[in-house]
Amino acid sequence: MSISENLSSIKSSLPCEVTLVVVTKTQSLENIMEVYALNHKIFGENKVQELADKYKQLPKDIEWHLIGHLQTNKVKYIAPFVCLIHSVDSLKLLEEINKQAQKNNRIINCLLQLYIAKEETKFGLDFKEAETLMSSQEFSKLKNIAVVGFMGMASNTDDKEQIANEFQSLKLFFNKCKQMVTFNLKLEILSMGMSSDYLLAIQEGSTLIRVGSSIFGERN
Ligand SMILES: *Cc1c(COP(=O)(O)O)cnc(C)c1O
Repeated sequence: MSISENLSSIKSSLPCEVTLVVVTKTQSLENIMEVYALNHKIFGENKVQELADKYKQLPKDIEWHLIGHLQTNKVKYIAPFVCLIHSVDSLKLLEEINKQAQKNNRIINCLLQLYIAKEETKFGLDFKEAETLMSSQEFSKLKNIAVVGFMGMASNTDDKEQIANEFQSLKLFFNKCKQMVTFNLKLEILSMGMSSDYLLAIQEGSTLIRVGSSIFGERN
């Protein structure tokens, strides 16, 4: 199947309230432009350098999301243009994003990354840490960021029930926290699901999926 056939078959299976982020990591500019030409303009990268390079080389009406781990010292490279950062996992990082957003005279939308997998290797806050962060004095002082939702990655397993349970736990936590609305906190986006598990994620209440290999084929 071609990129365009894959893209349209995924798009036609999505409920209208679910946003698709096409994950372009390791993809050539040519492949990305093939998707862009089909009028899809929301893309995600997991590495800062790759994101900044592709931003420079590609059309400026693309909405770029950072979906991978972000180090504080690299925030400055994406602060001028990034549309949504999915991977905020500490107050320290959020404070640096706020600082760089201020320098660029903008407000940067962020998701808190929550740890839901039964694996040691994934980044993210646990539910308690996220609540503490969102309720803190320090957080309430950040005027140039907005926390607009959560992101979570399920375990890399074939056990569908486990994956569904992990997504469900995040959805429940999301619903619980939705009532905490302040000037820089309004939870509307739940980023869950990638190629292997996006259908399950949508069943469990995802509003945004991040899909790469189901569109471009397996990465090398
Ligand atoms: C690579 C990546 C994806 C997409 O993975 P696919 O299996 O190619 O769909 C989604 N989210 C994150 C954080 C990623 O790094």
